[in-house]
Amino acid sequence: MKEIEAWVRPNIKALKPYASARDEFKGEASVYLDANENSFGSPLPQNYNRYPDPLQKELKEKISRVKGVPPQNIFLGNGSDEAIDLLFRVFCEPAQDKVLICPPTYGMYEVSAHIHNVDIVRVNLLPNFELDVEQILESLTPSVKLLFICSPNNPTANSFHADDVELLVQKFNGIVVIDEAYINYSRQKSAIRWLTEYDNLVVLQTFSKAWGLAALRLGMAFASETIIHYLNKVKPPYNINIATQQYALEALDNIQWVNEHIRQTVALREALITELKTLPLTQKVFPSDANFILLRVTDAPGLYKHLVENGIIVRDRSKVQLCEGCLRITVGTPDENENIIRVIKMYKA
Ligand SMILES: *Cc1c(COP(=O)(O)O)cnc(C)c1O
Repeated sequence: MKEIEAWVRPNIKALKPYASARDEFKGEASVYLDANENSFGSPLPQNYNRYPDPLQKELKEKISRVKGVPPQNIFLGNGSDEAIDLLFRVFCEPAQDKVLICPPTYGMYEVSAHIHNVDIVRVNLLPNFELDVEQILESLTPSVKLLFICSPNNPTANSFHADDVELLVQKFNGIVVIDEAYINYSRQKSAIRWLTEYDNLVVLQTFSKAWGLAALRLGMAFASETIIHYLNKVKPPYNINIATQQYALEALDNIQWVNEHIRQTVALREALITELKTLPLTQKVFPSDANFILLRVTDAPGLYKHLVENGIIVRDRSKVQLCEGCLRITVGTPDENENIIRVIKMYKA
């Protein structure tokens, strides 16, 4: 057991959280005149006039059954991005504490650190895109409060070795955030299995990728009850709106659709990798554990422009350290994948 409580900012420990009307009265009643809502209803067919459940109990119960994680170990955010933001609020004293990231990686960790005026310690990935475990351990000084590990990693598309990641969770006297936005496409098992062993672990997942619900904004954080307690303490009271809660409940009844499209995406990913490898301008197609492919070509900016001119948008990562000359391509539908291969073949440098 680690000293999670001791790492929480003193002002957050002392904070008296906002108590909503629905926090003070939790039972069932026939007349609700406690929250200054519109008693007549809403100008829509749905009854959106009532505030939603601040702790999303019904939704957490259902997620709990799907993920095998007890509801008290689940936090739901307005996208994973909200969970990332709240972790800074709970654990990082502005202009004093630090976080460690392993570039090239997801841009939000850095943006969130800047927003909170928290310094960033960077330990680049090794040239083979693995974690530089030795250097990370050396850099985890007491002022480092959060360690972000994105696995499968965006934009390199690989998962890190489970042994490396677990060692860091074990050794670090701070919070390890494992961002598993792409876990459904991965050969690796989720770090959720370590939650019973380590209370300094936060596993982030999202409804934005495999679940196909990026527009609804729903992210999950799985962690020890202590960490969940503090995330709930600092979150905006009604952070998940009722439409999102209802649609997510409905989506969770449709896991078959999700699994079928994960299988399809993985098969299409491998087919796309095989195709891309045959193209003359391809220098390297990196292996992928996600729903996107990192492709190194001879003239990335030129190819990017050519794709845009043909109505196809990919992500130009060619200016990113260790991703020089690379484009990041999301796996599309069969037609979209055929189309991008056809358009790349038309390119004359
Ligand atoms: C897409 C993505 C997310 C998703 O963020 P949401 O706020 O849940 O949409 C999180 N982490 C990584 C690494 C991503 O690529």
